Amino acid sequence: MTSAAAVSLLRGAAESGSPSAPAVNLHARASADFGAKLQRAVATLQAAAAAGPVKQASSLGAEDMVITHLINRHALPITIFVLDTGLLHAETLALLENLKAQQQAHPHAPIEVYRPVQEAAEQFVAREGHDAMYRSIELRKACCGIRKMEPLSRALAGQAGWITGLRREQSSARAEVLTIDRSEEATRGLTKYSPLADWTWGDVWHYIALHQVAYNPLHDRFYPSIGCAPCTRAVTLGEDFRAGRWWWESESGAKECGLHVSHNPANAKHEEAPA
Ligand code: SF4
Repeated sequence: MTSAAAVSLLRGAAESGSPSAPAVNLHARASADFGAKLQRAVATLQAAAAAGPVKQASSLGAEDMVITHLINRHALPITIFVLDTGLLHAETLALLENLKAQQQAHPHAPIEVYRPVQEAAEQFVAREGHDAMYRSIELRKACCGIRKMEPLSRALAGQAGWITGLRREQSSARAEVLTIDRSEEATRGLTKYSPLADWTWGDVWHYIALHQVAYNPLHDRFYPSIGCAPCTRAVTLGEDFRAGRWWWESESGAKECGLHVSHNPANAKHEEAPA
């Protein structure tokens, strides 16, 4: 797809308004063992909080809103951070404002927002243009480096671990996600906790429906996975969960921005927090 066509597709979806249906009605369906999964998720968050300073990385997607809700319900001392890349959808930014207001009632879990270094972002756009990400994977990753990776490293400085909303069901690249992943200890010095690793999309929405958790309205417009506006589109029936992310790229395995590097198989052993 050419960059012009990609931009046009994006504008079409955003301006004409994609079809809409309440995601809760479409997806909420608990697994038979949902209760046990919920207990394990809470135990994982408690273990993370007990292990030292940890932060939740929130993209403000459905999984992350569930995790924040669990942190609040159990009054866990876990800071929540959001990477505002400067290119998020208006709906995502509105949800961020709501979350900031909500967390004022939960001082154990404050919100932090990290933004790219303005000069670096501006220089990249001046040099490569606003649509650089459509031209090559290298340029796309360079943009992610400035807008996501560098702010991420600031967000995680001094932490013992971080918490993500990764689920095994999200993509084949994530099929081996560990609940407690120690493979980043040698590189980033961090333990990564993914308390919803074994949850289905139906479990996530069951929890949202049960507790009336606020969520991004883009989910009602068939955006299962939400990132920056230029790099996210709605999916159609039968498409993969992450098909709407960097959809113009065909190279398999490339649809990650580097936040979640693949783990070292040598350290890959399944480990659960004690329930
Ligand atoms: S997702 Fe797209 S817009 Fe966002 S940082 Fe990466 S390349 Fe840039």
